[in-house]
Amino acid sequence: MRKKMVAGNWKMNKTLQEGVALAAELKQTVVNPACEVVIGTPFIHLATVAEMLKGTPVHVAAENCADKESGAFTGEVSAAMVRSTGAEYCILGHSERRQYYNETPEILKEKVRLALANGLKPIFCIGEVKEEREAGIQNEVVRQQLEGSVFDLTAEEFAQLTLAYEPVWAIGTGLTATPAQAQEMHAYIRSLVRARYGERTADDTTILYGGSCNEKNAAELFANPDVDGGLIGGASLVAEKFMAIINAR
Ligand code: PEP
Repeated sequence: MRKKMVAGNWKMNKTLQEGVALAAELKQTVVNPACEVVIGTPFIHLATVAEMLKGTPVHVAAENCADKESGAFTGEVSAAMVRSTGAEYCILGHSERRQYYNETPEILKEKVRLALANGLKPIFCIGEVKEEREAGIQNEVVRQQLEGSVFDLTAEEFAQLTLAYEPVWAIGTGLTATPAQAQEMHAYIRSLVRARYGERTADDTTILYGGSCNEKNAAELFANPDVDGGLIGGASLVAEKFMAIINAR
């Protein structure tokens, strides 16, 4: 049975002290969750938060890592550094990284490779922009994103990945994919995984939905057979809302 998951993405929000306070709230309230719970925090929070949450059901993710192993890359944070904080996951391919930091499929392929080589489990994001959805080419877009960055992995490597379908038009906009739109795309993504890696891997791949998922719409989205949980931005910044989404899974 594949893993169910609710993962938060704090993005560039919260000072260290605010992040520690939110992590402390989650540490108290997330007990025996029915799914894997992950919080993606800014680099600066990782070591402290990972130490606080060690041995609890809340796992920690970085929101990015470098596409280089080490060396003279001022300001970058390597996958090995992320892993050394105790973080277990790494969000990669988020649309904000693709859009604002020009992360291409080739760069992301390298980041995924380095994350895996350093023992991190990538949460790999894919999804189309509004114009692509309006033109009806969303399937083609996600297929290319998968083929361009992760379909060269071996089956063993691919098994470490969680996929997150995040229609860009739904991220932070208050617009959510309908449950039917989410299910249709998730089933399509699973069919691509099946064609590339076979039935067993397809059945075992966790595919999250992200894009204005909140405490009100989570249950309806998660009720779909191919929606295995959510990647949550805004609503993961408030413990009560994030808890309600975890409880909806
Ligand atoms: C995200 O950034 O991954 C996301 C899904 O954001 P939001 O929930 O705020 O739309």
